[in-house]
Amino acid sequence: MLSNAGRLPGPTRWILPALLALACMMLAVMPGVASATELTAKAARIAGDEARTRIVIDFDVKPDFTVHYLPSPNRIVVDIAGTVNFAFPPEQLEARGIYERIRFGAMSAGRTRLVLTSKLPAGLEVAEARKNEDGDGWRLVLDGAIVTPDQYAAMKKQGNWGNAESSTPVVPLAPQQPSSDGVFTVAIDAGHGGIDTGAITSGKNPVYEKNITLDFAKALGRELNAQPGIKAFLTRDTDVFLSLGERVQIARSRGANLFISLHADTLREKSTRGATVYTISDRASDKLADELAKRENTSDEVAGVEVKKEPSEVNDILIDLTRRETQAFSISLANSIVHSFEGQIGLINNPHRSAGFRVLTAPDVPSVLLELGFLSNSEDVKQLQRPDFRDKLVTLIADAVKRYRDKLGG
Ligand SMILES: [Zn+2]
Repeated sequence: MLSNAGRLPGPTRWILPALLALACMMLAVMPGVASATELTAKAARIAGDEARTRIVIDFDVKPDFTVHYLPSPNRIVVDIAGTVNFAFPPEQLEARGIYERIRFGAMSAGRTRLVLTSKLPAGLEVAEARKNEDGDGWRLVLDGAIVTPDQYAAMKKQGNWGNAESSTPVVPLAPQQPSSDGVFTVAIDAGHGGIDTGAITSGKNPVYEKNITLDFAKALGRELNAQPGIKAFLTRDTDVFLSLGERVQIARSRGANLFISLHADTLREKSTRGATVYTISDRASDKLADELAKRENTSDEVAGVEVKKEPSEVNDILIDLTRRETQAFSISLANSIVHSFEGQIGLINNPHRSAGFRVLTAPDVPSVLLELGFLSNSEDVKQLQRPDFRDKLVTLIADAVKRYRDKLGG
């Protein structure tokens, strides 16, 4: 793709096809030129005001990238081909000027994303990879500016609006039964990942929620796979981003009988600690659950994934019907987990809560979201990093899954 495909419309727009053709010809006669699969971003700088803001990122090799825009909230999405090793401290790219939030990280193997969120609609006037004069490395220059309504409309027309990748509404399937060979399949979902770090502890050596969840997910997978008659798989087993819809679809397409999403978020009330089990509900059980679900549901937005409208009304009714039955199973699993934890590990008061978590919307797979503890509580942070605590916790979850399965079978 041409590196400046996401630029604002301007008098030079007609030149683009010609440049593209030229670039293709050059690539064809230069067999040594290939898009790098691994790049290092060595440093970054950001400067500007409320009207214009420049970002410069230093790379070791030329970054191959594309740009597109997403509305509500206004986002400029820069996709870089290859895996980028971000070797600079995150503070170097802290949001300022026109941007209120900046995220960067892996989207999938071989694809990296930068998401620039602005309060007002904004576009890139310059998006270029420039060779450093001293011949050492390249710099990616992104000049962002607030746009007028006319420019905004023109950007939409230009075609680099939205992308194919979006969170798709779920389509109801028949509820999952254990397979004919009696194998009980569990989908384990490590919350967040890649560009979506989840919660981060403050201070030196920050702890990332996405790493804690992956660590526990792997351990739980091993524990469950060691049980006869149970097969577990992870929705992600590396540091990559998955949209909430993808997590649900992976579980359904692989015939999961259960879906367990693992998290370790932060709360405003820092003294709150302990585990919580969440199931889905239209209305949140309490304020804390409501806030948590709202934050969790912004995951796709953070990663620059377009969120499609909710399914049509007919689809809604079908989903509702299957969901009601599934819901009873989800609650049964939640109770089984709480029962397993009681007296063994710390639980918050009212440990089974509910809210509208989008990751729990599989109409046919009983699903729970488990807060393992809170990264806002220093005791929990220590505990979540202890292997003995992790092993104890996954054993208790596995016990709960076995009890749930035995109840079904009995
Ligand atoms: Zn989370």
